[in-house]
Amino acid sequence: MSNEVLLRVEGLKVHFPVTEGVLITKRVGSIKAVDGVSFELERGATFGLVGESGCGKSTTALAILRMLQPTAGRIIFEDEEITFHNAEQMRPIRRRMQMVYQDPYGSLNPRMKVREIIGEPLTVHDLRGTKAAFRSKIADLMERVGLLPDMADRYPHEFSGGQRQRIGIARALALEPSLLICDEPVSALDVSIQAQVVNLLMDLQDDLGLTYLFIAHDLSVVQHISDRVGVMYLGQIVEVATRDELFANPKHPYTQALLDAVPVPNPEIEAGRPQQLITGEVPSVRNPPAGCRFHPRCPIAEPQCAETAPELTLVEPGREVACHLVSRAAGVFSRSA
Ligand code: SF4
Repeated sequence: MSNEVLLRVEGLKVHFPVTEGVLITKRVGSIKAVDGVSFELERGATFGLVGESGCGKSTTALAILRMLQPTAGRIIFEDEEITFHNAEQMRPIRRRMQMVYQDPYGSLNPRMKVREIIGEPLTVHDLRGTKAAFRSKIADLMERVGLLPDMADRYPHEFSGGQRQRIGIARALALEPSLLICDEPVSALDVSIQAQVVNLLMDLQDDLGLTYLFIAHDLSVVQHISDRVGVMYLGQIVEVATRDELFANPKHPYTQALLDAVPVPNPEIEAGRPQQLITGEVPSVRNPPAGCRFHPRCPIAEPQCAETAPELTLVEPGREVACHLVSRAAGVFSRSA
């Protein structure tokens, strides 16, 4: 890991208009799927982005890849601001940032042979070269992800779930990117296979110097692989810390509840440990609660929490938290408090 910042996201917002009417439509509101997300990712490091389903993690990823248009904020990749780049300007950048998808079943074309699937990015970017060079490149990629090159003429249905995710990873590596955005890459896999895929990603990072944005809904999945972790709730980051600090001493009540929900393998410890489970449904992003968005579910909310939104505030070196009570305890005050 270097100190060079590969990706910087500043105040990113992705809002979708809500309209009414059939022939004449009018805008009646907006869905604030991502609402002011900021973080940095150093070259060679892994930033884990965690939160419940629908909190805006995948929308953040799609905006960084510019597969969705940001509403506001800045995305700076390899010192180049790409926030409002057009398709032509994004074309060379897409080679350097690739995606590993959640669904190893749905993300592979069932009618294509594995060689063509893995080589598709080379085809799209007109980088196939000679037939022999293309075959050799695909064989290298398959070996790198732990697949036998002589399986290249098979179809996706002939592979297990874990093998299909390896195919997806090989495809993402074909253009030798610097950044891999892994969107829930193991959540569709059996638990026994998840560790193998995470270990493969870590080995590839060591060998190739890759940088990862690793998205998951389960904190236990990001624990192993992440250097830093950001916790998202309803379109906003509520806590960022190093992996070790976050797991040893979570400060935001939502992070604490997420960690409490992670089962401990020892049944005796599991039965005896205090748990602070979150109650209630995740509110709608179309109509988020005023003040702190977590306040209707927060076990320690105060009257102020329903009125004023806490800003993400540096409460100790390397740790940012968006919570009035945490800021007060740390003796620092966000501008909103
Ligand atoms: Fe809970 Fe208030 Fe902190 Fe929000 S600001 S997490 S409601 S204590």
